Amino acid sequence: MLNSGHFSDKKILLIDKEIKVKNDRTWCYWEEGEGFFESIVYRKWGQVSFLSNEFSSSFNISPYQYKMVRGIDFYNYCFKEIGKHGNVEIVYAVIDDWKFDKEVLILHLDKEEYRLTDRNTYIFNSIYKPNESDKSSIRLLQHFKGWIIETKEPVFDPEKATLMDFRVHQDHGTTFAYTLPFSSTSALVEYTLFTKETLATHLYDLELKNYLSSFHNIDEYDIKEKEYGVIPMTNEKFVFAGDAWNIGTAGGQTKASSGYTFQFIQKQSDLILDFLINKRSLNDVPLTPRRFLFYDKTLLYLLYHNKISGSKVFSDLFRKNKVQQVLKFLDNESSLVEELKIISSLPTWPFLKAALKQL
Ligand SMILES: Cc1cc2nc3c(=O)[nH]c(=O)nc-3n(C[C@H](O)[C@H](O)[C@H](O)COP(=O)(O)OP(=O)(O)OC[C@H]3O[C@@H](n4cnc5c(N)ncnc54)[C@H](O)[C@@H]3O)c2cc1C
Repeated sequence: MLNSGHFSDKKILLIDKEIKVKNDRTWCYWEEGEGFFESIVYRKWGQVSFLSNEFSSSFNISPYQYKMVRGIDFYNYCFKEIGKHGNVEIVYAVIDDWKFDKEVLILHLDKEEYRLTDRNTYIFNSIYKPNESDKSSIRLLQHFKGWIIETKEPVFDPEKATLMDFRVHQDHGTTFAYTLPFSSTSALVEYTLFTKETLATHLYDLELKNYLSSFHNIDEYDIKEKEYGVIPMTNEKFVFAGDAWNIGTAGGQTKASSGYTFQFIQKQSDLILDFLINKRSLNDVPLTPRRFLFYDKTLLYLLYHNKISGSKVFSDLFRKNKVQQVLKFLDNESSLVEELKIISSLPTWPFLKAALKQL
């Protein structure tokens, strides 16, 4: 919004409960060409590998590149931009609650009540609250722990990122690791699960240690940074137009079957911006096409009920399709014809039965 120059006469209030000074997450995504956040891309790779006991291969993903943005670089970049615009005010406070009383927005901030009466105010909400009343929703968690490590000897190929390595044991459910190398002696290594519950804290560390030892043959390294995260994977119905305009994860931009969110947020933001600039109602902003929600729900159902292993599904996807087609499909950018081809590469019976359940 700030870059567009269309909102310099508007007052913008940004409320957040915390100052963004920590490198609290690392975002990875794939993209063709240069994106909006190109200047802060920390690393990018043209080759990725997929590994499992059923199928392992490396791929050149051109015209895509797999990119990494560090949380701290993103925050610094955004707040530097914000600092150049005098029309943005930042308030650090916890939003306890908000509701509309007719046209008035009543906001509870740090236990104090505030009333916003300007009818022309747009409110965008990024606070995700699971819809607990929807008992039929499936809720899986994507939870992960990562270490940035440094080794004495060169052990990593800095040209190649691992997308998914399913060779780790699957005792807890769908589990994979991945390695994103910064150099031959430094990498971010993550251990990730799609399960109903998170693990005890010490187990992530144990599994990371085992992974490094068993699959990278590395036993000596320094842990420079750690990251832990939980991303909701749910078939819950998200609304964009609620009491406020829900954006980000709160607005359903986390892909339920993969947890990828970053690029979906950028696409949703572009649409919102376009509609605001062209003075069109935000009610008409296109939502995620329903067929993609249906595919996501189907896979989520299969994983939740342990009908099929994630390793088998992703192995089939990468073995039987061109990697670019898989990435396009996971981006919700494929055509129906392309999707039919991809779907036909997956185990027919479990998917058909799960799909019928969703219908
Ligand atoms: C560790 C981690 C790694 C991830 N990695 C990837 C990845 O590689 N690729 C990808 O595509 N996605 C990834 N994701 C998923 C997703 O991209 C991120 O969660 C992303 O930050 C979601 O953006 P958002 O704006 O919806 O929410 P957030 O970035 O979480 O922003 C919500 C904001 O609301 C504030 N807030 C929350 N509650 C309150 C309150 N009550 N009062 C005031 N302020 C409040 C928070 O402080 C925060 O600043 C990752 C998520 C995590 C947690």
